Amino acid sequence: MIVLGRCVRTIAFVALGLACSLGAGAADPSSVDALLAEISTYLFSTPEKAVAPLEKLQALQSSFTPVQNERYQLYYASSLGFRGRHEERISLVQSFLPQVKTPARRARFLYELIDGSTVLGRYEAALLAMNQSILLLPRLESAGEKMNVLQSALALSSSLHAYDEALDFAERLYSLSGDTVGSYAACVGLTDKVELNFMRGDRQQARSLVPDAILACDANKNQFFTLLVKTLVAIDLIDSEKYATGIASGLPLLRQFSVLSQSSDYVTQLEEALARAYLKTGNVEQAEHYGFQAYQRAQSGKVLLLQEKTSETMAAIQRAQGQLVKAMGYYDINLALKKKVLDDQLQKNLAYQRVKFETQDKANQMALLEQKNKNLNIEKELQQGRNQNLILLMTLSLVVLTLLGVWLAKTLRQRNIFRQSAQVDGLTQVSNRAHFVASARQVFRSAKTGVSLVLLDMDFFKKINDTYGHATGDWVLRAVCDAVKTQLRKTDLLGRLGGEEFALCLPLFTPEEAKAMAERCRAAIAAIDTGPSGFSFEITASLGIASRDINGPLNFEETLAAADKALYFSKNEGRNRVTVYQHSGA
Ligand code: GH3
Ligand code: MG
Ligand code: MG
Repeated sequence: MIVLGRCVRTIAFVALGLACSLGAGAADPSSVDALLAEISTYLFSTPEKAVAPLEKLQALQSSFTPVQNERYQLYYASSLGFRGRHEERISLVQSFLPQVKTPARRARFLYELIDGSTVLGRYEAALLAMNQSILLLPRLESAGEKMNVLQSALALSSSLHAYDEALDFAERLYSLSGDTVGSYAACVGLTDKVELNFMRGDRQQARSLVPDAILACDANKNQFFTLLVKTLVAIDLIDSEKYATGIASGLPLLRQFSVLSQSSDYVTQLEEALARAYLKTGNVEQAEHYGFQAYQRAQSGKVLLLQEKTSETMAAIQRAQGQLVKAMGYYDINLALKKKVLDDQLQKNLAYQRVKFETQDKANQMALLEQKNKNLNIEKELQQGRNQNLILLMTLSLVVLTLLGVWLAKTLRQRNIFRQSAQVDGLTQVSNRAHFVASARQVFRSAKTGVSLVLLDMDFFKKINDTYGHATGDWVLRAVCDAVKTQLRKTDLLGRLGGEEFALCLPLFTPEEAKAMAERCRAAIAAIDTGPSGFSFEITASLGIASRDINGPLNFEETLAAADKALYFSKNEGRNRVTVYQHSGA
């Protein structure tokens, strides 16, 4: 990523640092020169420290010689660039440039113009300034000055996707080395050629240049550029689906970056590629780790393309993790960035078309055509991205709806279960003791006519359990309830008081009618066919009835106690029978 703009650029940054230090006049001990020297030291290492001496110089401006003034203006423009004040930077350069005569200084001022215009997206102005600076090349004396011009021209044309032209600048940069192995120009020129070839998709050419580039940068003892080339190689491995080798070679490079403490865009690119490689090999956790780091780094940087790429990778990672909401967030960001990239690219194309290069030839027109095609592709991708987003949105809504539905059903079911379990006996599904007592009491309170209570206790139930097993006993209890229920009216209540003992509450009955009902229940129980239980045996129950009437017990408890007495009588009398409680005695 050869990018113009000091905050993000690495290559031109180094070159410019070298060139700028050439201008410092160390011999002059006057305070203006001392301050200028101080600024030049700080400007390219810790630019914020250059602000104070610049402000001191401002007060001394009237005493400047023309040369000192030129240096001051240049440093001031540069410092404005570091502080992101590009408008001021550009107008300063534009107003001062006409009086700058020496080619080297003009080139330096033009660089400020190219960089500032590029950062502000004014590509036409940037290209015009670039052309002016290229025209200065034959008149520049030092290799450093020439490198500086070529590097900034290279960065701008590559950002316009004019790769042939950029490669031409790289070639000219390389030729400054005079074939000296280990020269800075050889290392930078070859590294640029590797990167530009990768950028324009000529992987074979890029790969074939890698060994020479590493050799040149090693000989130049330029650790950082060696690292850059190796990083491009690792990313290339991942881009060509060699994930395992890509990861293996990429991880140590990341560590080297951290040792060299370079927070460069190459780190972002490498982390993004590692994230993709981990995602492809199923290690989603690591993918997220590197993807998120790359994403954050890209957001705090200024390179649109990296922001776009890392947000897309994060969307894919979140999607793989089933984090649909997060994935959609990243897709949204990605779509907005794709649009921005497209707009930016269109601006660049327009500028490219309008500015007549002196160097423009067929190759440039090809590059333009190529770019037009790419824009069409991006547009297509954008469209697909929209569709994808829509599908994601629909999937998400569906998931949310389903979850809501399931949750609601579960809650309702649970609420029913709670309500039921508080009222219903689990085994027989008739009212449990508490519910029966509460309901029957209610009937006793509100009923104006007679109410009868029937107590029902299974005969020799223990024996059924002992003989045929507990499960058969359970079966009997359920069968008994079913049989009794067939006899009941809507107003009658049936409850299980406990064990094998049940109760009926029969409103609106005379004692005789209640007795008849109890008798029908007894007969129904005795008639149960035990075949389905797997065994054949007799089932009988004993019943006791008590009714509320004028002369008898009045409340529920007293009636229940009376019914219990009647039941006791039935048991004593030989079971399988109904006894009605008589006030005069059983
Ligand atoms: P009686 O004719 O005198 O009433 O004799 P019985 O055997 O029916 O009475 P007893 O009170 O001696 O025994 C009741 C048995 O009912 C004892 C207990 O194990 C059994 N029982 C209580 N609850 C359940 C149940 O939920 N399922 C089964 N299978 N048995 C139960
Ligand atoms: Mg009992
Ligand atoms: Mg019993």
